[in-house]
Amino acid sequence: MLRKECISNATYELSYYNTLAALWKRCQDRTESTNIVMHALDSAAIALTNMSNSDTHIVRLREKMARSKLSLFLAPKEEWTSLIAKIIRPSPEQKIIKYLWPDVALRKLYNIRIGTLLVLRKQRLANQLTKTMKHLCPSIDPWTCPPFDQLPNKTIMMLSGLVSNEQKLLVRGELAPHQTKYPGCKCTRDPERDTPSTLLHRMTICPYSNKTADIAKVKEVIMGTDKSVSKTDILRQLTSLAI
Ligand SMILES: [Zn+2]
Repeated sequence: MLRKECISNATYELSYYNTLAALWKRCQDRTESTNIVMHALDSAAIALTNMSNSDTHIVRLREKMARSKLSLFLAPKEEWTSLIAKIIRPSPEQKIIKYLWPDVALRKLYNIRIGTLLVLRKQRLANQLTKTMKHLCPSIDPWTCPPFDQLPNKTIMMLSGLVSNEQKLLVRGELAPHQTKYPGCKCTRDPERDTPSTLLHRMTICPYSNKTADIAKVKEVIMGTDKSVSKTDILRQLTSLAI
């Protein structure tokens, strides 16, 4: 006989804690020998069967299951999907029981705080991106682990937004709104249409640049969608355009 119960953890409604709550309640309510079937890759099942896991909730639950003579069976993904999931169909009218064990309200608070800190860290990093970096890739994620330690100083200077002018002096690569000439080539910029980035200008449309780079390719590499070229190599290649 299959029995279906809908139980959630009252303090932290995560799948993992919902499962722990359901197992604990099953031990409490057990009136006869019960077998539990769980997906072999379920995080709670993995924790329960990992004998080196010393989390107090897992240890207590494991002991309680043993005392209650509650047997746990693990089903491989195929069996789980084809048998269990088809038999136990979700029914919206079934009431979800909120169960208090384990009390992980503090863990929830901790995770929320960590999540907030990560968001703040991401915002801080986004504010630190130079305009050149934003032009190359506006998303913060690819820049969170750049190969900075493998890049030459010139590349770092390029990423900071510097380019060389006709006198081979380093100047700001980002043009101010009133500037209409790109340094180095003197191409005229249309503020309404053309990029303020000298680097992007040299990479794309400058007729005087004898070096070309496919900006789409560069973006793919930096954003990680193209793994065939290393990020370090493509950034080194870009350096020759700027400095
Ligand atoms: Zn030009």
